[in-house]
Amino acid sequence: MIQNVIAFVEHKHGTVRRVSFEAATQARALADKLGGKVHAVVVGDGAQTAAEALKKYPVDQIHVSDDTRFLENAVDALETVAKAAGNGLVLVGNTMLGRDVGSRFAARVDCGMNADVVDFTTDGGIAAVMPKLGGLVITTCALDGDFGVAAIRPNVFSAKETSGAGEIVQIPSSGKASAITVEDEVEEAAAELGVEEASVVVSGGRGMGGPEPFTTILKDLADAFGGAVGASRAAVDAGWVSHGHQVGQTGKTVSPPLYIAVGISGAIQHKVGMRTSETIVAINKDANAPIAEFADLLVVGDAFAIVPELANAVRDA
Ligand code: FAD
Repeated sequence: MIQNVIAFVEHKHGTVRRVSFEAATQARALADKLGGKVHAVVVGDGAQTAAEALKKYPVDQIHVSDDTRFLENAVDALETVAKAAGNGLVLVGNTMLGRDVGSRFAARVDCGMNADVVDFTTDGGIAAVMPKLGGLVITTCALDGDFGVAAIRPNVFSAKETSGAGEIVQIPSSGKASAITVEDEVEEAAAELGVEEASVVVSGGRGMGGPEPFTTILKDLADAFGGAVGASRAAVDAGWVSHGHQVGQTGKTVSPPLYIAVGISGAIQHKVGMRTSETIVAINKDANAPIAEFADLLVVGDAFAIVPELANAVRDA
C-alpha cells in the first residue's frame, strides 16, 4: 500500500521547472494524508543547485545524484529511493521528460502509470483523477500495490514554499556506463517559457495571417504579462510557429490562470487543450465564432488593433 510520495525533480543545469515545485508541494499534502514521507529525487548536471532550491519546499529528504547518465540515472535513482522507502507514489510532471522517466520507472518496478493527473482522492487508498476523451469524461484510477506513477498536469496543483529544510542525501554513483549518448542539445528559439507552465498564454491562430505576429504583437503581449506564446494547429501547420507552441488535442494541454485566444475560432480539438484555463479571453473579429460559447470574455474586433493596445495597457497598469 502506498504511503510515501516521491517527487521527481525536472531541472535544467540546476534551474528547477515549476511543475516540480508543484509536485513537491502536492507530495506533502498526499503523504500527510497517507501517513508517509516525502522524498525528492534530483539527478544530473546541476543537481546540487536544484536540490538547494528544493529545500524551500516541504520535502523530508532530497536525494541527489550527480551521475550524468541521462534517463537511466533518473530511473535508477527513483528505483533506489522507492525500494528503500518500501513503497511510493512517484510524481513527475506531465511533460515530455516527466512522462518518459515515469513510464520507464513504472516498467522497472512493474506498476501502472497515470498521465495528465489533475487531482487525487485519498478516501480508502489513493486514486488519481484524470480527464479523458479531451475532458469529456473524468476517470478515477485507484493506485493499488506498493508503487505507482502519476504525471501531474502543470499549473493545476499549487507550489508553496515553506520554512522546513529537507535533508540532502547523496545517492552513491552506480558506476554504470550509459547506453544513451546525448550528442547535442538544441534550444528551441523563442520558447523561453513553455506554454504548459506559463501563468498567461497568448495563443494565435489562422487569423494572424502569417508568422510575423507570433514574434511581434503576440510575443509583445505575452511578454507584457510575463507569459508565453501558444498557437492553434492551423498556425503550426502553416509553418508560422513551431509545434512546441501548439495547444490542443495533438499539442499541449494548458491550464493557466489566463488564456488569451487571438484569431482562433475555438474548434473542439483546440478547446480540449485549454478548456480548463481559469479565465479565457478571446479576441476575434467574428462575434459568432464557436469560441464565443466557452470564452469568459469575447472581444470582437481586429486583433491587429486590439492586441498592441492591450499590451500597452498591461504595461501601464
Ligand atoms: P480557424 O478555424 O480558421 O479560425 C480563425 C479565426 O480567426 C476565425 O474565427 C476568424 O474569425 C478569426 N480571425 C481572422 N482574422 C482575424 C483578425 N484580424 N482579428 C481577429 N480574429 C480574426 N487544432 C488545434 O488548435 N490544436 C490541436 O491540437 C488540433 N488537433 C487536431 C487533431 C485532429 C485529429 C484534427 C482533425 C484537427 C485538429 N486541430 C487542432 C484542428 C482544428 O480542427 C481546427 O482546424 C483548428 O484549431 C483551427 O485553427 P484556428 O482556430 O486558428 O483557425
